[in-house]
Amino acid sequence: MKNSWRPQTKLVHGGSLRSQFGEMSEGIFMTQGFLYETSADAEARFKGEDDGFIYARYGSPTNDMFEKRMCALEGAEEARATASGMAAVSAAILCQLNAGDHIVAARALFGSCRWVVETLAPKYGIECTLVDGRDLKNWEAAIRPNTKLFFLESPTNPTLEVVDVKGVCDLAHQAGARVVVDNVFATALYQKPLELGADVVVYSATKHIDGQGRCLGGVVLSSKEWIEEVLQDYFRHTGPALSPFNAWLLMKGLETFPLRVKQQTETAGRLADFLAGQKQIAKVIYPGRDDHPQADIIKKQMTGGSSLIAFDLKGGKEAAFKLQDALDIVSISNNLGDAKSLITHPATTTHKNLSEDAREELGITSGTIRFSAGIEDGDDLIADFEQALSKLPG
Ligand SMILES: *Cc1c(COP(=O)(O)O)cnc(C)c1O
Repeated sequence: MKNSWRPQTKLVHGGSLRSQFGEMSEGIFMTQGFLYETSADAEARFKGEDDGFIYARYGSPTNDMFEKRMCALEGAEEARATASGMAAVSAAILCQLNAGDHIVAARALFGSCRWVVETLAPKYGIECTLVDGRDLKNWEAAIRPNTKLFFLESPTNPTLEVVDVKGVCDLAHQAGARVVVDNVFATALYQKPLELGADVVVYSATKHIDGQGRCLGGVVLSSKEWIEEVLQDYFRHTGPALSPFNAWLLMKGLETFPLRVKQQTETAGRLADFLAGQKQIAKVIYPGRDDHPQADIIKKQMTGGSSLIAFDLKGGKEAAFKLQDALDIVSISNNLGDAKSLITHPATTTHKNLSEDAREELGITSGTIRFSAGIEDGDDLIADFEQALSKLPG
């Protein structure tokens, strides 16, 4: 892989480890362990004098190829692939904290991410303050002498609120804390948290990276120093390693990732404009539209919109269910970033475990819908929404 290659080239050719057979598509190395020619070779490998593989929990060839392509996409030095997005998030957070430390996190988080910081971390003596992440003053006010970590996602799930990533990173670094960004909703194509100052970026590769609804996966990206000195021991000994088969699927997903995400984002942008003009809809929130409440921050930190749209139906839950049920092409599912267009009603699914008050704080009403644009023809999707909306009372 040449360093001068642009991301789309690296995503097709980067990091390949070809076997003696010269296979065109990358091999799937389904192996737990590795053989050594001699005892001395085994000794050298364990001493770290030769950088071959030792055991698939620490690293293996197919996973290595996927990790190298993720690094190329993100502009990161090192990565570790994990079995799910949540394995990536929990490893990235827990590996760097001790009892007595304090986390500041945005309250608008993917449900399981919120559980890790709000419920799991305190069990081990790690305190957490959740803030309205839209205002930098809230982050600043939450800092304590023992604050070690800031955690956020932007745009957020499901209401596509935005956090000023660079502003938060500057505050964290002044306080001697590190920043972990969950970048799933923006994708690596349209937002580069490491360039904005983040220390660690995590993805659920289950979403746009696989993008075809086949497997779970995750990835943690950072500097070589942080991965080797902070994450590596945690990763080796707690075992969140990704299956090589899934690493292969995800690597194949990366080959077409830019094509899919560009198409999905273009369609989401068109559909957001269409929905904004419909009488049954009270509000559309889309990061690519000028009427997004934080359009100025979006222009500073994102180079494209999103493949997701949030919108509020005037008719509440009844209208939301009716719309979802009336769509032909769009399927009801809580996944996102898929080649298939998917729709979900957060109040009764992904966010049903939050209290009514917590939902209200996040702007999730009984009429809120989250839509994830697939790669179907955009005109067909608009026509599908048109026919489904026509079944709702105006
Ligand atoms: C889906 C998702 C996760 C969790 O990923 P899994 O692969 O389902 O474990 C974490 N954060 C965000 C923002 C997500 O959308």
